[in-house]
Amino acid sequence: MRRDIILDDDDVPLEEEPGGSQTSEEDVAKQPSAVSFFYKRFFPESGPADHQNWKWQTRNSIKDLKQLTEIFTLTEDEVSAFSNSGVSLPVRITPYYASLFYGKEYDNPLRKTMIPRKDELIVSFGESGDPLCEDHMTPVPNIVHRYPDRVLFLATEFCGAYCRYCTRHRLVGQDHDEFRFNALSWDLGIKYIESHSEIRDVIISGGDPLTLDDFKINILLSRLRAIPHVEIIRIGTKVPAVLPQRITPRLIDILKKYHPLFMSLHFTHPDEITPETSLACKQLADAGIPLGSQTVLLKGINNDYHVLKDLYHKLLKIRVRPYYLYQCDPVEGSAHFRTPVKEGLDIMAHLRGFTSGYAVPTYVIDAPGGGGKIPILPEYVEGRDNDYVYLRNFEKKVFKYPDPSHKTD
Ligand code: SF4
Repeated sequence: MRRDIILDDDDVPLEEEPGGSQTSEEDVAKQPSAVSFFYKRFFPESGPADHQNWKWQTRNSIKDLKQLTEIFTLTEDEVSAFSNSGVSLPVRITPYYASLFYGKEYDNPLRKTMIPRKDELIVSFGESGDPLCEDHMTPVPNIVHRYPDRVLFLATEFCGAYCRYCTRHRLVGQDHDEFRFNALSWDLGIKYIESHSEIRDVIISGGDPLTLDDFKINILLSRLRAIPHVEIIRIGTKVPAVLPQRITPRLIDILKKYHPLFMSLHFTHPDEITPETSLACKQLADAGIPLGSQTVLLKGINNDYHVLKDLYHKLLKIRVRPYYLYQCDPVEGSAHFRTPVKEGLDIMAHLRGFTSGYAVPTYVIDAPGGGGKIPILPEYVEGRDNDYVYLRNFEKKVFKYPDPSHKTD
């Protein structure tokens, strides 16, 4: 049952499909020389058309220490993550994404998010396997019902690449029976939504739903869209960053049948904004899909307002609106990624007023224990005095706003 829903790289067919690759031959010819060198050296049997094929990228993903060692000069810290029982979250990196940090040092931001380190084996204060208590809000196996009018629909446990800080560490890429999302669990999830008329918003997540093949995506979207009270459908995905080749004309033709459809795209660092990613986002935006980004604040990766400002500016240029900046969830083995909350607030204070409002996301903490997303903001209200409220602007200047009707005395 599992294999008819889950995309596994061993059973990905490599047939040529009309509309099944991201770009034209003309675009392929523009491959930068560093990227061509990477493919020639490590995938000598392949050609540019393969590199633009998402199934080739998936099938040839880097998944173990041997493959990592062939491509990267690993440090002792990285190698030791594989020792003893090893890390619990599997490794998976598409050749495309690996080419973005090939030849880069140990402290490269993208490398840190993909290659495990020894720190991942340490469970620190406040961490848990399921920090958001999703497993306690699961009325049927693939539904998380935390908020009154919307649900999370977990469509697959598979991702194009596995992020080392993943909140769903416990289920993505794992082989646990309770987290196998298949035709049976889809049916149960859809029936649950059908029988709860208060659900007006369904967020398809996982794993990464866009790693499912076109047929399965079409089936899932058509079944959800057929439920009269489901007003909007959202898809959460990191595919445009790690496997942009997946955004094919054929996929676009499917997605645009199911409006209103929104997408939350997971981006971490400005180095992810490449010509391939830009093209993928253009195709999605041209199909009328509103695109928002979700970014996890990560130590040594993007915890610097210059880096985030650069990322947000680049995202706006490819028509993606920064949506959420997440404080990193306390999932087991993630302490080396987490930053103090104060640092997040300082970053927000350096964004608001210093760049376009569209480039400023909402900074949130997803409350441990299942409290949901709680926005946190630097303090801008200085207090009040009789008929005025005192406000501090981005330059730390204080202004009075007349507010006599809200006198507290
Ligand atoms: S893409 Fe999302 S679900 Fe998959 S490993 Fe990364 S953070 Fe987790």
